Amino acid sequence: MISVAWRITIILLLVVLAAAAGALLGGHPGAMVAALLVLVGVVARDSLALSRLIRWLRSPEASTVPTGSGAWAEVFYRASRQLRLWTGRLSYEESKLHRFIEALQVSPNGVILLDENNQIDWCNATAAQHFGLDAQRDLRQHAVHLIRNPEFVAYLQAAHFHEPLHMHRAGSRAQFTLSVQVFPYGDQQKLLLSQDITQLERTEAMRRDFVANVSHEIKTPLTVLGGFVETLRDLPLDEEQRLRVLGMMQTQSDRMRHLVDDLLVLARLEGDPYPPTEVAIDMKSMMTQYLSEAQALSNGRHQIKLEVRTDLWVRGSPQELHSALSNLVSNAVRYTPEGGSISLEWDAVFVDGQPRHAEFSVSDTGIGIAAEHIPRLTERFYRVDRGRSRESGGTGLGLAIVKHVLLRHQAELLVHSTPGKGSRFVVRFPAARLVPRDASSSGNAAESVLEAA
Ligand code: ADP
Repeated sequence: MISVAWRITIILLLVVLAAAAGALLGGHPGAMVAALLVLVGVVARDSLALSRLIRWLRSPEASTVPTGSGAWAEVFYRASRQLRLWTGRLSYEESKLHRFIEALQVSPNGVILLDENNQIDWCNATAAQHFGLDAQRDLRQHAVHLIRNPEFVAYLQAAHFHEPLHMHRAGSRAQFTLSVQVFPYGDQQKLLLSQDITQLERTEAMRRDFVANVSHEIKTPLTVLGGFVETLRDLPLDEEQRLRVLGMMQTQSDRMRHLVDDLLVLARLEGDPYPPTEVAIDMKSMMTQYLSEAQALSNGRHQIKLEVRTDLWVRGSPQELHSALSNLVSNAVRYTPEGGSISLEWDAVFVDGQPRHAEFSVSDTGIGIAAEHIPRLTERFYRVDRGRSRESGGTGLGLAIVKHVLLRHQAELLVHSTPGKGSRFVVRFPAARLVPRDASSSGNAAESVLEAA
């Protein structure tokens, strides 16, 4: 294909040749004038098209491509086609970049891009939140001017980036810990990643505490048992003394067994992602069972009362609920001095004939619990009085088991207590867990009161 410049040159040459031939052969000076007019016309048309092209090139858009005739039509067509091609490529690259940035924005980790002077090139929303930055306003600012933590400044200056830095930061609501690591790339640029490890640190601390507690709990009875073994081996004991020592050894080994049993129950509950087996449980007969257990444990030292005010059943795991509720009953007996009273109740609240919730409660007139301990009672091994708990055969795991079982049944534990006066532990089951004994008579609460000395 002939280029535009060549076409124009050929036209001009033809015009000049025709004019020259006319002037020479015919002796017509008019031919020269006509040739000049044609020339002016061609130049004027091209200048016009050229100026339209220049104007369009200042802000080229596919919708405003100028039109032209002859060779200019091809010029404009090719220019607009090239423009469409570039625009297409650009929007494809832009959408790729946009998707990449979107992915970085939803990352749970903070991402900051630093240039060779440690100025912020870009940061995602998580990094902005971790370091208190404004993702727009703080661009091009020096990282150390905005993140003034001395450890961070030293880390960036030392440039030993093979290990992460753990930074403690104060958020709007609480302290949190960040793990920060820098990865150099390109021409002295840096990728800074931050991760909130507060929960990880807490879990690690809990794990360490748990191992220390279990070791301590097992070591104590083991040491005592070891002492008794030495006594039996080294001392000449009469039959009565020997039986007493063996009885004490039995107590210690029972204690260890209880501890291991509770640990196994807890491990199973914590590690079991499945909901409990769905069985309808007759709470009235469960309550009678708890009464017998409380009486056996109390051995006549307390007044124990049972009140069943509703015949609603509960849907859940009989084993798990038995283990949780009997823990509350045994606590009431263990933390109530001789002569005190204990009351077991099963009751429900109805709204418009429909149960809103039902409550299992154990009230005692025992030693009570000071308010500051109540929020921590369900922590593993948390005891208000370690000595008293051990003396009464406690493992410190009972209420942790209760918490897990109730969580699995969407039930709530409410604790009301006054030191020196007594406590009331309430387990509230939501309506969704309640089953009317007889579906046709739901809402007709039966009342039965059993008394036991
Ligand atoms: P423990 O085996 O020590 O009883 P729990 O987890 O069952 O462990 O209970 C945790 C702590 O809560 C107990 O050590 C005790 O201090 C306190 N506690 C639980 N129930 C009662 C209660 N009915 N009265 C007074 N204190 C209680």
